[in-house]
Amino acid sequence: MRLLLRLCTCLACWFVLTGWAAPAAIALSAVADASSLGLRAEVLEDKTRALGIADVLAAPDLPWRANGTEVLNFSFSHSAYWVHLRLHNDTAAPLTRLLETASALQDVVDLHVVHRGQITETVATGDRRPFANRPLPYRYPVFPLAVAPGQTLDLYLRLDTHDGLFEAMPLVLRTPQGFLRHSQTESVAFGAYYGAIVALLLYNLLLFALVRDGLFLKYVLYLAAYLTWNLCFTGIGFHYLWPGAPDLNNQMLAVAVPLIFVALTAFSASYLQTRARAPRLHRTMVGLVVLCTLQPITGLLDFYAATFITILPIGAAMLVVQMIAAVRIAVAGYRPARFYVLASSALALGALVTFLKVFDLVPSSPLVEYSLNIGSALEFILLALALADKMNQLKAEKLAAEQQALAVQTALAQDLDRKVHERTQALELANAQLQTAAITDALTGIYNRRYFDTLLRREFNRCMRQQASLALCVIDIDNFKKYNDRFGHQQGDEALKAVAQALAQRVQRSTDHLFRVGGEEFVVLMAGQTRASAMGHLEILRLAVQALAMPHPDNPAQVVTVSCGMAWSEVMQGEPDALYAQADQALYRAKQAGRNQSAQ
Ligand code: GH3
Ligand code: MG
Ligand code: MG
Repeated sequence: MRLLLRLCTCLACWFVLTGWAAPAAIALSAVADASSLGLRAEVLEDKTRALGIADVLAAPDLPWRANGTEVLNFSFSHSAYWVHLRLHNDTAAPLTRLLETASALQDVVDLHVVHRGQITETVATGDRRPFANRPLPYRYPVFPLAVAPGQTLDLYLRLDTHDGLFEAMPLVLRTPQGFLRHSQTESVAFGAYYGAIVALLLYNLLLFALVRDGLFLKYVLYLAAYLTWNLCFTGIGFHYLWPGAPDLNNQMLAVAVPLIFVALTAFSASYLQTRARAPRLHRTMVGLVVLCTLQPITGLLDFYAATFITILPIGAAMLVVQMIAAVRIAVAGYRPARFYVLASSALALGALVTFLKVFDLVPSSPLVEYSLNIGSALEFILLALALADKMNQLKAEKLAAEQQALAVQTALAQDLDRKVHERTQALELANAQLQTAAITDALTGIYNRRYFDTLLRREFNRCMRQQASLALCVIDIDNFKKYNDRFGHQQGDEALKAVAQALAQRVQRSTDHLFRVGGEEFVVLMAGQTRASAMGHLEILRLAVQALAMPHPDNPAQVVTVSCGMAWSEVMQGEPDALYAQADQALYRAKQAGRNQSAQ
């Protein structure tokens, strides 16, 4: 009795200390398509990492405890862990079941199948061993188990790591049909998922090649990093792409995760224009990127635990900072930021649900299981949409800029036109002025000697052609030297102007022209007049000067007078100069005859 009491006390103490109750065997008849076994498992921590299956079987008093959660989760630990499950075929038929250790990244997963204390099968696998070690070619280690009718099997899983980082690992028991259904559905879903990512990646790469906008390249980098990470994380890369290289799988993972954050930050900074729109947050983002770029070093040196223990908080901080920046920039009215917030929210939600699933905080369902894939796919699509929207906006901005440039150009062209027009007008005016000046006598404003030479020749030829007459009259002020001597040169000039004006008033017909050809000498050309009428007109001119009545005491008439000599010809012959000389001779005669008269 005392012995029994002591035994009970010991057992009670042991239960209290270990919290363990020996697991009931799992009845296989109750296993539907898939059953989660986490809560049915017992766990043993092996701090020495030295225990083998023989040691475990030989020592029934080891401190086993109930696992207590659906998911096996030892996170950071330098121990090895043993997981014990007991299966019992309670049917009359032999049954096959598949035990799935649902993590692609668990370093060491060894299964020992024990029947009545005897090891019947041992499989050594895990992501640190070549893919060929797996009993079934699947992205997670899956162990097929044949259980005879009435048979009870003990399954001992040994989980270990090379550097103390354990993956969260659901334990699932499936029927062969259930496994087939599950893996096929999953294959189709992953095919579609990766297909979409690769299509997006190539499409944006082509866009980059065409548009040469770095934003597309950053997006492509982000997609590539995410794709690499996801292929490693899901075990699909190890299954299909590099089955013989378990080390590569781990190294790529250590590079891809920081690269995701770096590429996403580069993309976000460009897309949201954080440097200009949220400078303080931008600096924080840059700082976190620098920290991120250091991460792969530890990973490549095989210290994965160190990499992931730091990268996850840094990554989380990055996402939070970027989200805050995006929300702020969106609130400030920058339209593209709204798409970004939407896209990031989809990813954040997916990541959150995955995180909660890992820690067993949400009930498992396909939606929960693939929440990260769904969230990320949504994010990629929304970001692609955001890029398209931004391109649209850039196009609109470019169009507006072009229109503005066109308006400026048109205004400039119009201005130039106006200026050219003004200059041309000014030039024409100056030309006209120059032309007028070239043929005008500066003092009197009538035609000058140069124009006389031109016009005489022209009129002479015209009259010759038209058989018209031409009268050339020379008019010379009498005793003008004396006038100058008495009244001064300036007064002389005024007299010259007055005489010119008086003559001009009477030389108005289009066929008549008046010139100042020398100091106080004028010429009148009259075409198409008879000798008499020309002479008559000349007399009118002479009298008009006299009528000015400008006092000239040293002139016999006591006023300024002129003497006139006329040459008249009906038929033009020889040179025009001869006509001039003839008129000059007539003038000489008029002077000789006493001045203030006309001669011919
Ligand atoms: P005559 O009756 O014989 O023509 O005598 P005259 O003094 O008029 O003739 P002369 O040829 O000896 O002198 C012409 C004078 O005309 C000399 C000069 O003082 C004056 N003269 C010539 N050109 C100008 C001018 O532009 N302005 C002024 N004020 N005087 C001029
Ligand atoms: Mg003279
Ligand atoms: Mg004179």
